[in-house]
Amino acid sequence: MAKVQMTTPIVEMDGDEMTRILWKMIKDELIIPYIDLKSEYYDLGLKYRDETDDQVTIDSANATKKYGVAVKCATITPNAARVEEYDLKQMWKSPNGTIRAMLDGTVFRAPILVKGIEPNVKTWEKPITLARHAYGDVYKNVEIAVPGAGKAELVFTGADGKEIRQTIMDFDGPGIIQGMHNKDASIKSFAKACFEYALSTKQDLWFATKDTISKTYDARFREIFDTTFESEYKEKFDKAGIEYFYTLIDDAVARVMKSKGGFIWACKNYDGDVMSDMVSSACGSLAMMTSVLVSPDGIYEYEAAHGTVQRHYYKYLKGEETSTNPVATIFAWTGAMRKRGELDGIQGLIDWADKMEKATLSTIEGGQMTGDLVLITSNKDAKKLNSEDFIKAIRATYEAL
Ligand code: NAP
Ligand code: MG
Repeated sequence: MAKVQMTTPIVEMDGDEMTRILWKMIKDELIIPYIDLKSEYYDLGLKYRDETDDQVTIDSANATKKYGVAVKCATITPNAARVEEYDLKQMWKSPNGTIRAMLDGTVFRAPILVKGIEPNVKTWEKPITLARHAYGDVYKNVEIAVPGAGKAELVFTGADGKEIRQTIMDFDGPGIIQGMHNKDASIKSFAKACFEYALSTKQDLWFATKDTISKTYDARFREIFDTTFESEYKEKFDKAGIEYFYTLIDDAVARVMKSKGGFIWACKNYDGDVMSDMVSSACGSLAMMTSVLVSPDGIYEYEAAHGTVQRHYYKYLKGEETSTNPVATIFAWTGAMRKRGELDGIQGLIDWADKMEKATLSTIEGGQMTGDLVLITSNKDAKKLNSEDFIKAIRATYEAL
């Protein structure tokens, strides 16, 4: 079979530790044999980030803006221990944070569902994709511990010097106060990324806040979503046969637990933090969560939701056998290649992605899987394979499809 030809390069961001080892195996076994891979390669491994003073991360984000689609391997976010381990010039920032800020993007996370590893919520037949607004609210708050009786006020001083003032509380004893904010521009970017991703994946979009209680703050989120939808997306949604649906957060939670899944759930920052942990825990394994960063103008960066799996890497370095799950990283590649295929009109890339995902899931459904899945599967005949043998098994399934 002739290899699929690409026209536009994919931005390839290599990473660290065990996922860097998997990255190469996936390329060698599952991609290069089938696709004439055209990629613009950026080494985001910690060593090279340090050598380039993190310029490589910035360059990779700029390349993503230029070409529109990237695929990223997990990377180390340095802490004090890593600074010592890698003898770093400084404690470089999280690459994901840098890239997200440069693309002004929103992260969408979804579990990969497979027979034999059913979600704890029995009604969920399809994945629920969670979109978390990654700016502001309680994550950028200021707080005061009130020592005793006194008056707390909220004061805004305009650039023109005009004041807006409201009493928060007349304290008669000790207590606490919190101030937080968000920005219209950030909420708008979040809304646009959600609408874009819903269109791109042809899924309904749900959004919920507590605007019955927070009549100005949460209401602003709702208004921005509503007006953006009405003015820019309603017709496109109608055409795609999908829906935008707003409800109260309490109602959303109740509906989610009874739903079949298969939609995008957009959440404010705190709700998204908590609810994404709930959805991923209910679906079993961190190694089965995909993640895609989407910018408001429709630029995509695909990755796995998990980290570099450091503990397995140290075993690997000692020459011990590892059984690290490559599925989320494989799906990052299939997601990126499918998107590249859609943008460039290359059916071969879309077909490869569909078939490779199918091969991955059938391999697991046939009982061959990595150790993390053996622990949670209901398949009594499940067999644990090491990382490399599992990837080779997927290739064999792919060849047989
Ligand atoms: P992690 O790499 O996600 O791993 C945590 C644990 O989860 C592993 O020790 C393993 O459990 C299990 N696990 C995760 N992915 C797995 C997989 N593919 N297959 C099998 N088991 C898997 O998180 P971490 O150990 O906290 O972080 C390691 C490094 O990753 C850190 O330096 C952190 O900065 C970085 N990180 C990067 C990203 C990113 O680039 N997006 C995200 C998160 C963390 P067992 O050990 O019990 O087998
Ligand atoms: Mg959390």
